[in-house]
Amino acid sequence: MKKFVTMLLVLVMVLSLAACGGSDGLTVEKGKLHMSTNAEFPPYEMVTNDGGFEGIDVEVAGLIAEKMGLELVVDDMGFTAALEAVQNGKSDIAMAGITVNEERKANMDFSDSYATGIQVVIIKADSPAVQSLDDLSTGVLIGTQEGTTGYIYCSDSVENGGYGEEHVMAYETGAVAIQALLAGKVDCVVIDNQPAQEYVKANPGLEILDTEFAVEDYAIAVKKGNSQLLDEVNKALSELIADGSVQKVVDKYITAD
Ligand code: GLN
Repeated sequence: MKKFVTMLLVLVMVLSLAACGGSDGLTVEKGKLHMSTNAEFPPYEMVTNDGGFEGIDVEVAGLIAEKMGLELVVDDMGFTAALEAVQNGKSDIAMAGITVNEERKANMDFSDSYATGIQVVIIKADSPAVQSLDDLSTGVLIGTQEGTTGYIYCSDSVENGGYGEEHVMAYETGAVAIQALLAGKVDCVVIDNQPAQEYVKANPGLEILDTEFAVEDYAIAVKKGNSQLLDEVNKALSELIADGSVQKVVDKYITAD
């Protein structure tokens, strides 16, 4: 009897697996691949003049969707919301220069890494308070973007290598954090290197400290346990890395200068 029940259970599992097999039913909307993002993170994702989306993540996601025979749909929202959307099954993938860390790995699954992220410190070139990484622990006020690893590291306790929550401001976007720095409301901003480069280019008087704050991996997030989607995303991604397509997209947006 026990054996029969086990066999029946196995049969039910096989049938239900078959029911959600194939690309049909694999994504939240038939024929589409929904990517949640925060399109304020140049050059990974940004809004174009005509209201469309562009950037490294947007283009790589487009190539992945193409390989899967799906049409990419970009859903723009706040950074934290973009991570939540994939956890709640409202989007299929989240791509937003997302750093892989243990806490996030507990709540969502990640693809293989497709880029290296570096956290850097932006200062006003003539800042009396911050001229080196060591100066960050002298009680200065640090600007960050809410929900990002920059915020997580800096707001951590001193014992854990951070500076304590009271020394960190969390702004809605990186751009707002930069405004706060320019206005003298914070002494520096800890943020990912690529957007940092763009902010410094656009705002004379800002500078990036030579010493890197942290080195991380960017990856694509999917809903925890959605191994079928994750496998397909990883398969497409590895092909796109192997044939140089990912590098081509990166080179289009990041010019060595
Ligand atoms: N890489 C950082 C993180 O994952 C910031 C990403 C972002 O602001 N879009 O927390």
